[in-house]
Amino acid sequence: MIYFQSLTQSELADLLRPIGRAKIERQAVSPEDAEKKIAQRARYRAKQIFHWVYQRFTFDWDLMTDLSKELREWLKVNIELYRPPVLERRQADDGTVKFVWELTDSKTVESVIIPVAARELELDSETQPETQPRFQGDAEWSRLTACISSQVGCAMGCKFCLTGIQGLDRNLEVHEIIAQVLEMRVLAPLTNIVFMGMGEPLHNLENVIKASQILLDQDGLNFSKRKVTVSTSGLVPAIEELGRRIDISLAISLNATTDEQRTEIMPVNKKWNIEALMAACRKFPLGSHRRITFEYVLLGGFNDSLEDAARLTDWIRGIPCKINLIPFNEHEGSVYRQPSEQRVTAFQKYLVDHGLTALIRVSRGAEILAACGQLRSLLKLQSV
Ligand code: SAH
Ligand code: SF4
Repeated sequence: MIYFQSLTQSELADLLRPIGRAKIERQAVSPEDAEKKIAQRARYRAKQIFHWVYQRFTFDWDLMTDLSKELREWLKVNIELYRPPVLERRQADDGTVKFVWELTDSKTVESVIIPVAARELELDSETQPETQPRFQGDAEWSRLTACISSQVGCAMGCKFCLTGIQGLDRNLEVHEIIAQVLEMRVLAPLTNIVFMGMGEPLHNLENVIKASQILLDQDGLNFSKRKVTVSTSGLVPAIEELGRRIDISLAISLNATTDEQRTEIMPVNKKWNIEALMAACRKFPLGSHRRITFEYVLLGGFNDSLEDAARLTDWIRGIPCKINLIPFNEHEGSVYRQPSEQRVTAFQKYLVDHGLTALIRVSRGAEILAACGQLRSLLKLQSV
């Protein structure tokens, strides 16, 4: 059995070519004519099937009524629609929904849906520095971002990150990446995808590139290239390869402003230092109106000073970008501390005063109970 979600549309078309081939060959005027018609028909069928699954969320071959019986029977025997069970689904009071999926080998990965209120999007360098407003029950959301995983665990060993402390278990297969998105897409009209869940996506480059092709396919999940973002801790050669092979958005987890500091929290910096990383960012092919996102986890007393803000400003000068400041989320056993609100605001103000776009990504709170019910119906979530 082949998992449907592991196939690009053209790979599916190639698999479909032998079905019904004899009949076309009998009717064709020449072997070339037959080949052309066989390929055309296979492409058409692959497109139909992509529409059924990715746009009409049909998971039963028998319900795909415009496919021939012969084709449906073939699909039943050869192609499996992968549906990972949800072990856990929890919605925070601000609307954020976390999913835990069980994979076929009993390992688990997480994905999150993050609603973003309309007001947040209006913030840029011209507005007052302000903490990102929370999603309110009566606010309009204008973005539903799905944050997905690319690996079980992660090998990069960043000191502040829980996944990093776990170490790498294995890469996710293409169908396991796509299934996270598809399962959530059935429940909610997702607008953005970020590879910011578990794992280092560029450490699983082939599968992430192929999954991204499926996400961008107009007959498939049909996400725009601006709205699919791969986030990396800074694997320089893989950043270059990503840029060569696919046109999507890039986020860099920078998290420090000197090599000494960055090496301490992110071992990857020993191999590719900040200068090498910035050089890769400058070369990364950005289309018009697109920007690289720099993520910067603010660790209290470690990388949250105004000197850091000044060095950050120097590093990214000339790169079309925006900065996401993420106050550190403390977890059990973490040696780092959450920064004070005052330091976070001062850091952001410095960046904004220097003409940069900098948002604070606040950990979602638990205070807005009103949003919960509204969003649940909005997302058409059934209880599990
Ligand atoms: N491996 C990729 C993508 C997943 S991590 C990467 O590192 O870019 C997604 C983001 O979460 C990264 O920017 C990381 O720096 C941040 N992060 C990890 N642990 C965190 C914590 N405890 N508090 C706040 N942000 C954290
Ligand atoms: Fe965590 Fe990303 Fe670092 Fe991996 S690369 S340890 S997921 S922050």
